Amino acid sequence: MITQSSVLEKFGLQYPFKFNKKSKLALGYFCLMLLPFLATFSLDMADKTTYATILTTVNVLAMMAFYMQFPLVSRLKSFSLFANIDWNITHHKKIGLWLGIIFLLHPVLILAPRFLVSFDDGMHSLVSVITAPQMLTGIIAWVGMIIWILIAIFKNTLNISYETWRFTHMLGLVTIMILATLHITSVGSHGQFQEKFNLIWWALCATSVTMVLYNYFIKPRILRSKPFKLIDVAQVSSTDWQVTIEKKDASGFDFEAGQFVWLNTSKHSGGVKEHPFSIASCQADLPRVSFLIRNLGDYTSKLDTLKIGQNVYVDGPYGSINLAESSKAKAIVLIAGGAGIAPMLSLLRGLAEKNDARPIRLIYGNNRLDQMVLQDEIKALEKTMPNFKQQLVCNEEFNQEHREDIYQGVIDKDCIEGVFNSINNQNSIEAKKDCTVYLCGPKPMIAGVNTSLKSLNIPKEHIHYEQLSF
Ligand SMILES: Cc1cc2nc3c(=O)[nH]c(=O)nc-3n(C[C@H](O)[C@H](O)[C@H](O)COP(=O)(O)OP(=O)(O)OC[C@H]3O[C@@H](n4cnc5c(N)ncnc54)[C@H](O)[C@@H]3O)c2cc1C
Repeated sequence: MITQSSVLEKFGLQYPFKFNKKSKLALGYFCLMLLPFLATFSLDMADKTTYATILTTVNVLAMMAFYMQFPLVSRLKSFSLFANIDWNITHHKKIGLWLGIIFLLHPVLILAPRFLVSFDDGMHSLVSVITAPQMLTGIIAWVGMIIWILIAIFKNTLNISYETWRFTHMLGLVTIMILATLHITSVGSHGQFQEKFNLIWWALCATSVTMVLYNYFIKPRILRSKPFKLIDVAQVSSTDWQVTIEKKDASGFDFEAGQFVWLNTSKHSGGVKEHPFSIASCQADLPRVSFLIRNLGDYTSKLDTLKIGQNVYVDGPYGSINLAESSKAKAIVLIAGGAGIAPMLSLLRGLAEKNDARPIRLIYGNNRLDQMVLQDEIKALEKTMPNFKQQLVCNEEFNQEHREDIYQGVIDKDCIEGVFNSINNQNSIEAKKDCTVYLCGPKPMIAGVNTSLKSLNIPKEHIHYEQLSF
């Protein structure tokens, strides 16, 4: 049943109206989107017919959304509106899909009324649009946009590396954006009649190009001037590596437990060969920073070929998970799937540093037992921390005779409920109400655990998660 609150939830709002972090981002984004649209009114550029008004409104909003795609992926952590990388990438993808659809429909919507008058009239307009020299930029942008969006949708089925895809995605869309700007400022209805309005589009175009140039040419130079050094690469399970780096000048890098960075171990500090990894160590370990990395592809399978002492370039930290989110909670549950253990361990190590006495539970799931990392350290924490316990979860069948402590299967509702029950009634804690849950793992695991948490009535605002893919 669709309720008032479920509709509001869809837009990140709560009833009675409370703005959470995500709804504030959505509101900020919406306000920015309206700027050129409002300018059309202030410059007295109202269209003559309702259809033309609808069409220009859609076009102006779509073009603004196109420019806004650039700050969304530019890792602008100093601007709070664009600092939440997870939110940015999720919306970048959704908006990209809508832009593809609007671009596709754009000529159809312009020509449709002429076809409605008469087929011949429509065909005549179509031919003159295709053959007019001033339409060339628009036609190339239109075809390019459709091809680039299709490549982005099907990138996993194409035989190209993620790095190659990301670079060509950026290059293609910058070109399309410049061509589209040329198109709207030369033949767009606003541009033709109001020169001043074009200044807005060119300013947005220049800002977008500047962001790309900064990310691919200037930022790499800045990172090159403050490299880290590779200290150690050690295999910590059948599929995972622990990589440790150290800041050369022991200053200028800080992070919060739960955050991630883009790590670049190639000779060049350019933004093409970097990979996102969560920090597994805690602040007390600085200037050393460690990562737990699962062998999942062409880069992560070759970590043992890295040279101890070589330079490593670090872009970050990023990510919005942090311990401040649980400062008021009476208990904390950390849930990790596979490589998702890294940020959970960072949080756990941070809590251990503070000797946190609240009930703390770690649910740690893997397909196989030999994939569980750093068990000696985690078991030692069970003894030294005042109220910490780990629940291992293993999907593959194992000899349960000696391992009754392990939950066989995936991290499902029963498993999570069992852990919550182990917290209930301690110092009158009602676990489901008083807990903060941190969650990290691959996308399907996050979706499954979120569903289980929902069915256990854990309030949404008590759940903080990071997905291991964008
Ligand atoms: C926020 C975040 C934190 C992460 N933390 C960890 C961690 O702590 N430990 C860990 O083992 N893994 C982590 N990952 C996943 C890790 O980034 C990928 O497994 C790794 O980049 C794969 O690279 P590859 O070349 O070995 O594999 P590939 O076969 O090239 O890629 C496998 C998949 O990984 C993703 N990927 C690859 N390269 C990149 C890139 N440069 N940028 C973004 N995504 C990429 C793509 O979805 C790709 O389909 C994290 C991912 C994200 C988004």
